[in-house]
Amino acid sequence: MKDLTAEILCVGTEILLGDIVNTNAQYIARELAGMGINVFHQSVIGDNTARLRESLEECFSRSDILVMTGGLGPTYDDLTKETVAEYFGETMVEDSEARQRIIDFFRSRGSEPTPNNFKQALVPEHAVVFENDSGTAPGLALEKNGKTAILLPGPPFEMKAMFEKSVRPYLMGKTDHILVSRTIHMNGIGESQAEYVLKDIMESYTNPTVAPYAKQGEVQIRLTALAGNREEGFAVIDPVIDLIKERLGQYIFGIDIENQETALVKLLNDKGLKISMAESCTGGLLAKRITDVSGASSVLEISFVTYANEAKEKYLGVKRETLEAHGAVSPEVSVEMAEGVRRVSGADIGVGITGIAGPTGGTPEKPVGLIYISVSTANGTQTYKYLPGHKGLSRDALRYAATQQALRMCLEAARKL
Ligand code: ATP
Repeated sequence: MKDLTAEILCVGTEILLGDIVNTNAQYIARELAGMGINVFHQSVIGDNTARLRESLEECFSRSDILVMTGGLGPTYDDLTKETVAEYFGETMVEDSEARQRIIDFFRSRGSEPTPNNFKQALVPEHAVVFENDSGTAPGLALEKNGKTAILLPGPPFEMKAMFEKSVRPYLMGKTDHILVSRTIHMNGIGESQAEYVLKDIMESYTNPTVAPYAKQGEVQIRLTALAGNREEGFAVIDPVIDLIKERLGQYIFGIDIENQETALVKLLNDKGLKISMAESCTGGLLAKRITDVSGASSVLEISFVTYANEAKEKYLGVKRETLEAHGAVSPEVSVEMAEGVRRVSGADIGVGITGIAGPTGGTPEKPVGLIYISVSTANGTQTYKYLPGHKGLSRDALRYAATQQALRMCLEAARKL
């Protein structure tokens, strides 16, 4: 692999004075390291042309790539772009797309740009321009005699979005390796617990890197490898996935899948199975999530939202005695809902969900958040009692969490059919 050396230079008097923390340097350093690009120096300078020029000389005397942030704005002290252009012997020209984006940006906020805003549309003639989707100052890359300067806006949100979208691919084009990622999807375990169990793996592996990401209702572990090609990347990643499976296999519901519902619809389609649901507190959310997936029509014919007790009796055959003896929110009722809906629909998998989504309606015995989910198949009926570890989850969050558990159980049940 080609050995590239980069360094980071952050421009801004407020960083120098300690008024803000240099989180940009931290982010960029991590990203560059992850791409296999060596970073041996980081520096900060104030908004001063002479010192910026000096720094450019110094940085390029020892590094191939200089990544800079800050000083791209419209005000008089934003001088990064002009100083770097001069260093590279470039003249400034107006980028018409950048000009239009500035106009659109202000108009979308109900105002008009002032003339100094158009300073941001001026770019060095031979620069590669990176669009700014979250602000007005475009980013830039300039190259000359094997040296590359990358100029990014100061606000971290803009800088990160631009790095992700444009800078990473641009820099990867300079190396002869690629980044390959695989994502493990888990449910039924919290992010901190997953992190605890995988701590040693996360700390000891650098290729692939192993990092957790919390998404609504699931935990993802992303493994990213630096490799010559995709196959080489997978060869490095897959043994580590096996290691993680040994520890957390019971929580994993897929690898490189979009989400659980997609995995479920695919599995049911592959196996020629049908599913039907009887939902109470989730109000049809499970059916909605399944029908969000294209191809759902071959696995789902009918589904019920049976909110009232009478509806549970009438359409699913839930026994009045069961309702009276245990209440609508009970494992017994969820079992009868799941078995009933499987019977009346003729599906291979029947799901029953009943619970208290709140914020009202809870009692000490049956608190808000208590949800029973049953999944019935020819192999029997499994019931899961869901009760969140912490209070205060919104009605929406509780419903979503219940459908996450239901989908996990359906995947498990479908695999065994
Ligand atoms: P703008 O278009 O907003 O003027 P700019 O590219 O000129 O952006 P600066 O004016 O240097 O950027 O910085 C804008 C803001 O971005 C700063 O006030 C600060 O909040 C944040 N910022 C700048 N540099 C950094 C940094 N290195 N780390 C973290 N935050 C930063």
